[in-house]
Parts: sequence; C-alpha cells; structure tokens
Amino acid sequence: MLKVEDLHCAAGSKEILHEVSFSLQKGETMALLGTNGAGKSTVARCLAGISGYDCTAKSLSLNRKNLLKLTCDERAKAGLFLSWQDPVAIPGLSISDILRSALEARGQKISLRDFRILLAEAAEKLDLNPLATQRDTSAGFSGGEKKKLEILQMLILNPSLVILDEIDSGLDIDATRKISQILADYQKETAASFIVISHNFRIFESLEITQAIMLEDGRIADTGGAELIERVRRRGFRK
Ligand code: ADP
Ligand code: MG
Repeated sequence: MLKVEDLHCAAGSKEILHEVSFSLQKGETMALLGTNGAGKSTVARCLAGISGYDCTAKSLSLNRKNLLKLTCDERAKAGLFLSWQDPVAIPGLSISDILRSALEARGQKISLRDFRILLAEAAEKLDLNPLATQRDTSAGFSGGEKKKLEILQMLILNPSLVILDEIDSGLDIDATRKISQILADYQKETAASFIVISHNFRIFESLEITQAIMLEDGRIADTGGAELIERVRRRGFRK
C-alpha cells in the first residue's frame, strides 16, 4: 500500500535523507530505528507532507496515489495519520473540536451525541478522563496524557497508515503495554499498516513486526525483521 523509492529530503541547505526506499503492505508493521538525529522523524514528516521540507522521490505513493502531489490534509484524507513526537499545544482549540472538524471535512456525518459517545469510549479505553478531550489541545497535559490523546485521535479518525513517532516517550510502563495492546487490537480490526519509531522496545511487545529498518545519517544502514530490533536492544546501534 505504501511505496517509498529513492526518497531524498532537505530542510533549507541541510540534506537530511538520502536514497531511502522501502515498501509496506496492508496490515504490516515496520519498526524504524536509528540513533538520535538519524532522520526518523524526517521520514515521518516527509510522508505526512509537513511543510518546510523539500522532498523528492522516484516514487512516494499510498494506495497508488502520488503523495508528492497531495497536501498534508489531502494525505490525511487518504488515510495517513502521524502521531507527533512532540505534540504542539494549540490554545483555544480542543481535541474534540479538531476531531469533529476532521470528520466533517471527510464528509462523515455524525450527531453530536454519537460523537461524544465515541470520544468517551476511546477515552475510557485509554484510561483518560473524557473531559481531557474538551481542554485546549496539549496545553498543560502530562507527557503521557499527550501521547494518549494522540492515540485517541487515531481511534476516532480510523486511518489505514499509522505513523507513530516515539509514541511511548512520556508513557509509564503500564501505559506503554496498554497502548501496545490497543495498537495490536486496532490493527486486527482494521488491517491498518504501522510505521513505529521508538527507542523503547516495550511498545513492540504486542505488535507483530514484519520488517525493521535502521537509519544512520539519513540513509538506510540495515534492514531485517524482529531480530534486528532484538540486536539493537542487546547491542545498541553498532553492527
Ligand atoms: P531523529 O528523529 O532520527 O532523531 P530527525 O529526523 O528529527 O532525527 O532529524 C535528522 C537531522 O535533521 C537532525 O540533524 C536534525 O537536526 C535535522 N533537521 C530536522 N529538521 C530540520 C529542519 N527543519 N531544519 C534543519 N535541520 C533539520
Ligand atoms: Mg525524532
């Protein structure tokens, strides 16, 4: 469903990614590993179409749609979801407002009552106070709560390609386990594909990793399966 061929990316004069290629099938889970500054978040931002990055590729397609021709919101409508490494605070706008507008923009008609029920169910799944969805986005929340609210958005928006950029940073051990299970359940229900960026191997616990990629200085330095994650867990990033 996702094809990335020869992706290059620069921000201003800084070249960040070189010759990055991989593909991901429906229902697959890819782990994206690498040291700090290797380019993992840049891959996520390029796929999502975040502004400020100059991306070129031989092919960058999602379900045969050329992502390079789509804006960030069009990519979201095409089924792509990115959870931020550092969710930004948006004063005056709640997660509930954002999600309702997003569903409307997709032409999904839902009554306010049903929408509230949907939000409350997702919040309960995540052990979040449902009132959290009415507060200003990411403002004054703990690190873990911010990350749970990212997953709440995924559950409501129902994406087919989920990119999780360090979703576990800020989560306690129990919450990480729980989110790993919620992700696995979501994947089972929807056959969504996942790209999971993490330094904390517990998030992979309930997920079946079908491929792993290690980035180094913006290039793919190694590829493999779950055994690559295990090797990095034991020995770090050296080969
Ligand atoms: P990772 O997520 O693997 O830790 P990033 O993808 O965030 O790494 O960053 C890769 C490199 O690109 C880093 O050296 C970072 O400072 C640089 N970088 C990322 N975004 C920008 C930007 N907008 N302008 C300049 N340099 C950037
Ligand atoms: Mg990063």
